[in-house]
Amino acid sequence: MRPPPPIGLLAELTHRCPLRCPYCSNPVDLARRSAELDTDTWRRVFREAADLGILHVHLSGGEPTARADIVELTRAATEAGLYTNLITSGVGLKQDRLEALATAGLDHLQLSVQDVLETEADRVAGRRGAHAENRSVAGWTVAAGLPLTINAVIHRGNIGRIEAIIDEAVALGARRIEIAHAQYYGWGLLNRAALLPEREETLLARTVVERAQARLEGAIVIDYVAPDQFARHPKPCMSGWGRRFIVVTPTGRALPCHAAESIPSLEFWTVRDRSLGDIWERSPAFAAFRGTEWMREPCASCPRKEVDFGGCRCQAHALTGDASNTDPACIWSPGRDAIRSAPPAHRRKQVVYRKYGQARQSPVNRR
Ligand code: SF4
Ligand code: SF4
Repeated sequence: MRPPPPIGLLAELTHRCPLRCPYCSNPVDLARRSAELDTDTWRRVFREAADLGILHVHLSGGEPTARADIVELTRAATEAGLYTNLITSGVGLKQDRLEALATAGLDHLQLSVQDVLETEADRVAGRRGAHAENRSVAGWTVAAGLPLTINAVIHRGNIGRIEAIIDEAVALGARRIEIAHAQYYGWGLLNRAALLPEREETLLARTVVERAQARLEGAIVIDYVAPDQFARHPKPCMSGWGRRFIVVTPTGRALPCHAAESIPSLEFWTVRDRSLGDIWERSPAFAAFRGTEWMREPCASCPRKEVDFGGCRCQAHALTGDASNTDPACIWSPGRDAIRSAPPAHRRKQVVYRKYGQARQSPVNRR
């Protein structure tokens, strides 16, 4: 049976980025510039995405504006009929280039912020001046008439400043802010022990967000992505595997989730030699956990199986060693303990900043 069409494409245009955030969701083994898809291939992918029924494309990375052809790619996505959202740290982006992106048809800009405190933001980003550049881009975005969303990744270091981060987003003119706890894949998994907040801090964070939602109703939309560690059930990761989204990596591999390459048993097809439609319908990686047939107990007989689809396959693999297991974020998972007590390879206290070549040294990769 043909799967229903996807709605979103996450186009990871590059892994290059001037910043070095220790929670970066990119894989530890970062793709080199020489291996990236060229402009024409991305143009074709955008046309195929629209033909497949996809409505919006997230131009992401790494830092997507590190691509010299970002304006051209934005225009190509717009001409294909896709709603375009640029996900950027803003670092390295100049005002004239931002205006060129708006002219090329960019519909929306999502700006990632590290912290409200300049010194802390620069420290986490691994670059002096990152905070100042980032806030300039917020101003230029609003001046260009583009809707602005702020993304703030929450971790042990900034969890006490959520309210200030939200208030700053209002002052910057953002229409929406996403307060999302760090996800523990890629670099985040490597740095889990250093990033994971305490339970009490996490519970308080939810209260702070709820208070701000009430106080700022009508001024800004505040979305909250709760951490898995203290939840009863997992989130419906990617709205279900192979159900709504396609991720295309900088090298052209098509994935059901941006962390799917961490599951070694999966076979990924590439847009270099197959159409997006062919991949969506027939790729073994997309078929592997689509629907509910693949589930084991307790998911197989659970009334929530069409609600959260058993949670995250990558987290199940990372924490239990088998991607077919119930996500340990679920209280009914036999591997539940793993969600709070990291395996030895993830217990390092010293932060590892993102950099090329780290994969060779990583204890996670050496397992
Ligand atoms: S999380 Fe930080 S290092 Fe990773 S792509 Fe975003 S800005 Fe760059
Ligand atoms: S048992 Fe599986 S389907 Fe049921 S709530 Fe837990 S993760 Fe979701």
